[in-house]
Amino acid sequence: MGKKILLVEDESIVRMDLAFMLKDAGYDVIGEAGDGEKAIELTYKLKPDLIIMDIKMPKMNGLKASQIISDKFNIPILLLTAYSQQEFIDKAKKANIVGYLVKPVSESSLVPAVEIALNQAVKAVEYQKKIDLANQKLKNRKMIEKAKGVLMTRFNICEENAYNKMRQISMNKQVTMEKVAKHILLKYSS
Ligand SMILES: [Mg+2]
Repeated sequence: MGKKILLVEDESIVRMDLAFMLKDAGYDVIGEAGDGEKAIELTYKLKPDLIIMDIKMPKMNGLKASQIISDKFNIPILLLTAYSQQEFIDKAKKANIVGYLVKPVSESSLVPAVEIALNQAVKAVEYQKKIDLANQKLKNRKMIEKAKGVLMTRFNICEENAYNKMRQISMNKQVTMEKVAKHILLKYSS
């Protein structure tokens, strides 16, 4: 299945044109909106992989909508803009805006921009996963160290013995060192 794209553009002819190009390229245009408010509503409802968002729109402009969406979701946003709107883009650094397309948009510029935007999003997720994993490992290591210290004090043994004791429990009970550490901390630390 193609990646899910939400298309936000107030000019219906431009929107239709873009929708055709996207579908042609194998993407799944799961929703279309003509203003920022509707874009937010559809984002909540549809959770797209990517949002293509016009800047100048009625009710709420694309930048404002992008910022509101980025507060809640980690969805990449590709802006649609006229050449003169560069100044707005500089103001949008905080939102998840991964790029912009200058109108009129051709198929040859649209597809690569969409691919890059989707790729960046995947990389960002992978990067976050790596960070989370590293943090978890660090947390586990700290917990093991702490449990070791508790054993050393409690049983008046050296670090090596404390560690070996934990290792033994881990092997005998077939549980991870983290679990052993957690158990020790629950049992012995006040
Ligand atoms: Mg517009």
